[in-house]
Amino acid sequence: MKKNIAVLPGDGIGPEVVSAGIRVLNEIGRIFNHEFTYTYGKIGGVAIDEENTPLPEATVEICKQSDAILLGAVGGPKWDTLPGHLRPEKGLLGIRKALQLFANLRPVTVYESLSEASTLKEEVIKGVDLLIVRELTGGIYFGEPRERRQQNGEEVVVDTLTYTRSEIERIVRKGFELAAVRRGKVTSVDKANVLESSRVWREVAIEIAKDFPQVELEHMLVDNAAMQLIRNPRQFDVMVTENMFGDILSDEASMLTGSLGMLPSSSLSDGGPGLYEPIHGSAPDIAGKGLANPLATIASIGMMLKYEFSLEKEADAVQQALDTVLSEGYRTADLAREGEKSLSTDEMTDKLLEVLAKVTV
Ligand code: NAD
Repeated sequence: MKKNIAVLPGDGIGPEVVSAGIRVLNEIGRIFNHEFTYTYGKIGGVAIDEENTPLPEATVEICKQSDAILLGAVGGPKWDTLPGHLRPEKGLLGIRKALQLFANLRPVTVYESLSEASTLKEEVIKGVDLLIVRELTGGIYFGEPRERRQQNGEEVVVDTLTYTRSEIERIVRKGFELAAVRRGKVTSVDKANVLESSRVWREVAIEIAKDFPQVELEHMLVDNAAMQLIRNPRQFDVMVTENMFGDILSDEASMLTGSLGMLPSSSLSDGGPGLYEPIHGSAPDIAGKGLANPLATIASIGMMLKYEFSLEKEADAVQQALDTVLSEGYRTADLAREGEKSLSTDEMTDKLLEVLAKVTV
């Protein structure tokens, strides 16, 4: 198989973890006889510095021409005081919109060997295996108008939450499709007791459920969902929700695993290339120090192999290598307990590659 991957390293630890991901892809290519080629593009702060925009047109083009996109992370204190249209995050929102990446998938799996790394009790998080499906291109992050204005001598601010029915339908359907090949349960998260958009969301979920008789549907208010995620996270299989609720809940859910450095994500469209990235940010506090945990990015490569290229065997090999390095006790600094030895980004990647070669023998 020949695939061309658009690579957007971004800022902070982005380039460090992305280069670890590429080493893993190259090794998968070598072992399984695939050819992966890479085209690099700029996004975020680095693009602002060099091209005065967080998302150059050339980057969008590179992504559109690719088979899949690998992204590091964007942002950092250097760009925090720039005006809204010149913020690194605008690059992220822009690429999601340009490629119509409407479905963000965030699996949260608690590795047995890391269950002590979470701030929650082991008995609460043991065996957690859930998937948050977040709508990514609509809702309050994109609605217009968004503005500050003067009204009766006072400053008034407005953000707007808009969804079309079809936008809700396609994301809820995605949630059901994924649940159908998992444990068969969808929790649709909304705020139907207050928001009109949520009442439509709930209607749509009930309608789509009719096409999936094998999948159980439950509705949950977002405030309750936030609570249930730390009270009893094992109850969840697929949680499907709108953009802002999903943003908040998925970060909360990430802490079930103990470190942001472990969690992958993918953002999918209908037919175009998907975008694969770790969920963590650019971690400016540790950038350039060789301390970044590369495993979230490597797990994102696993998702790319599975969801984008349908390379199940290759994706399984990556997953097995991840399981093995962790169960053998290798840790980066974010995972290590006090007094425990920790590996650098490169050392952890070396270890994983070593294991990968054995797994696939
Ligand atoms: P962050 O995820 O960058 O870091 C939070 C904490 O987790 C930090 O202490 C960091 O050192 C640690 N951490 C994160 N990833 C790690 C890894 N792979 N290995 C080890 N430790 C890791 O979040 P933040 O500090 O709130 O944000 C920093 C910048 O990143 C901001 O500019 C923010 O806007 C941006 N951001 C970008 C994305 C993205 O590109 N998708 C996501 C979140 C935040």
